[in-house]
Amino acid sequence: MAEFSIIDEHFSGVGQQHKETLLGVGDDAAVVSVPRGYELAISVDSMCEGTHFFANTAPKLLAHKLLAVNLSDMAAMGAQPKWATLAISLNAVNLNETNDTWLADFSTELDVLSKQFNVHLIGGDTTQTEGPLVLSLTILGLLPMGKRLTRQGAQAGDNVYCTGTLGDAALALAHLLGQESLSDDTLEKVLPALHQPKPQLEVGKAMLEHATSCLDISDGLIGDAEHIAKQSNVELQINLENVPLSQAYQDYLNDSQNSTKKYALHGGDDYELLFTALPEKAPYIEAMASQLDVAISHIGHVVDHVVSHTASSDAAAVTLFENGKKISIKDKSYQHFSA
Ligand code: ADP
Ligand code: MG
Repeated sequence: MAEFSIIDEHFSGVGQQHKETLLGVGDDAAVVSVPRGYELAISVDSMCEGTHFFANTAPKLLAHKLLAVNLSDMAAMGAQPKWATLAISLNAVNLNETNDTWLADFSTELDVLSKQFNVHLIGGDTTQTEGPLVLSLTILGLLPMGKRLTRQGAQAGDNVYCTGTLGDAALALAHLLGQESLSDDTLEKVLPALHQPKPQLEVGKAMLEHATSCLDISDGLIGDAEHIAKQSNVELQINLENVPLSQAYQDYLNDSQNSTKKYALHGGDDYELLFTALPEKAPYIEAMASQLDVAISHIGHVVDHVVSHTASSDAAAVTLFENGKKISIKDKSYQHFSA
């Protein structure tokens, strides 16, 4: 199938049309209208076969994840997603009927999820390569003029919160890679976190004028907390016992001798929000969480960043506590400080 028929057949008319799209798929560029009083937030995320997904992953799952991870970036900014563009590199050798079914499944799922989140696919690029499949989606969203959630505003005294539960996606991946051996029941419960992350757009929007900093956890709680700590020049203290775990993760902890909380701390692929807010925002956050029916956990607090000359400033940016006692987060796993 030629490139033009691929575009016509699979990529025109994907997602939710809206009046702010002045020109969509079919011309040299798309043209959109940013409503008065708003600004554009723009982000791109790519997924590469063999690096970010297994070669045989169902196209439906790929489409879902590709859009969901980009929507999560909009959530982290407090932005309302509006448009997307898609760059896709197909393996030229396989450009046959199998590929056509693959594209149909991919674009159908992209259409369903885009409509659900009011996103319109307005353009892209389709190329043929001999290399692996690469999918890249750019998302554009709206922010009220002058308002945004960034990684920079955390202040000493703030509370630290996260949405949902952490670690399920990484636990599922560890099983698929043969590093863990989960029961069928546990695997079934953690797989959706890996394949179909739920972007926390409503929480991002609700926190737009209430959080002092925010990001989405894509590379693991501790690593991403470090981004806030460094960019805000503060220290984030996280309480291990408050890090939210799903029932499936708790079952895994109970089932296995060598079980570990490391997937919740360092795993990645969570796509939950991590944010800081003044303590007086606590009642608002609690009410918002129950109204949106989203779990929001208070997992720590922010203190001034005191650089000690014995530790590197890196080590001090995020600290982990268990029942009030400081524990090490070295070596991508945690262990008690020797007494
Ligand atoms: P050009 O040669 O000007 O780059 P293309 O032939 O690449 O144009 O694309 C034609 C039209 O189809 C453009 O409007 C482009 O945005 C759109 N398009 C191409 N590939 C995709 C895709 N994978 N998803 C969405 N739109 C696409
Ligand atoms: Mg092109």
